[in-house]
Amino acid sequence: MIYYKTTEEIELLRKSNLLVSHTIATLAKEIKPGINTLQLDKLAEAFIQDHGGKPAFKGYKGFPYTCCISVNSAVVHGFPNSSELKEGDVVSIDTGVVLNGYVGDSAYTFAIGTISEDVQQLLRVTKESLYKGIEKAKVGYRIGDIGWAIQEHTEKKHGYGVVRSLTGHGIGKSLHEEPDVPNFGRRGNGLKLQEGLVIAIEPMINMGTKDVHVGDDDWTIYTNDGKLSAHYEHSIAVGKTKADLLSTFDPIEQAEKENPFLFDKYSL
Ligand code: MG
Ligand code: MG
Repeated sequence: MIYYKTTEEIELLRKSNLLVSHTIATLAKEIKPGINTLQLDKLAEAFIQDHGGKPAFKGYKGFPYTCCISVNSAVVHGFPNSSELKEGDVVSIDTGVVLNGYVGDSAYTFAIGTISEDVQQLLRVTKESLYKGIEKAKVGYRIGDIGWAIQEHTEKKHGYGVVRSLTGHGIGKSLHEEPDVPNFGRRGNGLKLQEGLVIAIEPMINMGTKDVHVGDDDWTIYTNDGKLSAHYEHSIAVGKTKADLLSTFDPIEQAEKENPFLFDKYSL
């Protein structure tokens, strides 16, 4: 069943999501060649705990870390590990917190050093598609309109692969609530959007094939052709005239600009 949130609950969800945004921004200051993703994960865990939260992913269905950190052909659900990041890597960081009983969830993809125009375009278009989906997250539209907008921009316009087996989701006291929010769909189809619905919209967009598989760790999702993938995610509350973004990329994009090791030219 779908849990529609009160105004008070939406404000609590905003607090949780802002903590997620600031956690990712904290990591954005530290990403550089030579650091490993386990170090980033430890920083995230300490930051969340220092701010009164609990990592929402750690222990979720047995996931062992605070962040999903997915590098290059890893799409999502990557395990932080001891491999050093290097120039040219595309690094998706997805994390969640529980604060006052409410969950925040957001994700951002970074690139280290110089990247080709093809890669810049993948990141830019994926981020753009998130906002095109968010534009439809208001009363008068349906869930299918969100997925349609994302698919139009990424798959139809740019020929990228939209992952089908993973979707966005409702969010509240639980990390994953109903409804599913696919990144593909048909206009005018699916659940009618109403005020009080809070969802995470999260395009997972592959440079090549849409097809993916699970790795040996039983968690990490990889592209089948080994090509790159990007992932951006906001949690939002459906509004009457526009969506209310509960997470924000502002501190993340600021940190991205200030970190000389990160490529930031595609920032919107
Ligand atoms: Mg997420
Ligand atoms: Mg999510």
